[in-house]
Formats: sequence, structure tokens, C-alpha cells
Amino acid sequence: MGINILWDPQAPGGIELPVVRMIAMILGKKPALVEYPFLIDGYDRNRDQHDAQKILDRLQDTLTRRYDIDGPLLLVTSRDLYVNGFDFVFGLARPPCGVAIVSTARLGNDYYDRVPDDTDLIDRTAKEGAHELGHLLGLDHCPDPECVMFRPKTLDELDRKRKRLCPACREALASLGGR
Ligand SMILES: [Zn+2]
Ligand SMILES: [Zn+2]
Repeated sequence: MGINILWDPQAPGGIELPVVRMIAMILGKKPALVEYPFLIDGYDRNRDQHDAQKILDRLQDTLTRRYDIDGPLLLVTSRDLYVNGFDFVFGLARPPCGVAIVSTARLGNDYYDRVPDDTDLIDRTAKEGAHELGHLLGLDHCPDPECVMFRPKTLDELDRKRKRLCPACREALASLGGR
């Protein structure tokens, strides 16, 4: 079974391949970039954010109708995401349904008034993309702050994570390999 990435045309361009390569390195599985038209809904005018659950609803709906997409699907978008009860989320996964989303909105240095740097953006997008795909492959959150499966609440916590799974998560992923 493969893993797949759908890149929102509004998401930063030109970094797709480095992100895919880095996710492949972290998970030991190379994601395929798939392309099809996808409408992003769930916009909340008051918050100026998108409801991640609503986007996943549609993504799930699409995945059940697209027989050519084999395996879990991650959407990379530039829209800022929230879920009820949280100011924002970097991403969200719905493991039983095989769909997940990650947002680049808060992954670029420009959001924090720092000097833009594609390398930072690629690293963070790959780490959070691999994190959400990790959930779809059956991994849970990890207490190791350097592990990709650690759940960061801030950009600094995200940057503290390394571009790898800790040995325990790597082992868990290997034992889930037949899924
Ligand atoms: Zn998570
Ligand atoms: Zn771990």
C-alpha cells in the first residue's frame, strides 16, 4: 500500500519534491504526489481560518470515490486551520478513514516576522506531513520531544523535533508494516 500527497495549488510551490523526499527518509516509504481538482471548504469568516474537520470530510468523500488512489492521503494546504476548542492546528489526521491535512500557514518564517527561508519551510512541512501520515499508518503521539510523532504546540517545539522517528516509533511502524 502506498502513501499519497495532494498539494493544494495555493500551497507554496517548488518545494513539493524536497518535502516528499524528506518524508520518504523519515518514514521509510516514498509518498506519491497525486493530482486532482479539490475544493477546499470550511472557511470561517469570523476566524479567517478553515475548519480542518470540514476539509477532512470532503477529502474522505473524495478518497472513497477515487479508486486510483491507493492508500492514505495527505492534503498539504496553505490555509490556516482550526478545530473546535483550539486556536489553530498545524495539521489533523483521521486515521480510520485514511485522510489527513497539514497547513503551511504557520510553518514559514514570514508568519513570525523572521527572514523567510525555504529550508525551514521544507523541514517543517516534511516533519508535520510525516507526523500526520504516521498517524494514518497507525502511530500514536510520542513523548520524546525530538521524535516526529511528538505533538508540538509551538513553532519552537516543532523546530526541536528532529527529522526522524525515535527508535520506539520506528519499531512500532515496522510492526505495523503489513497494514
Ligand atoms: Zn498528531
Ligand atoms: Zn517516537
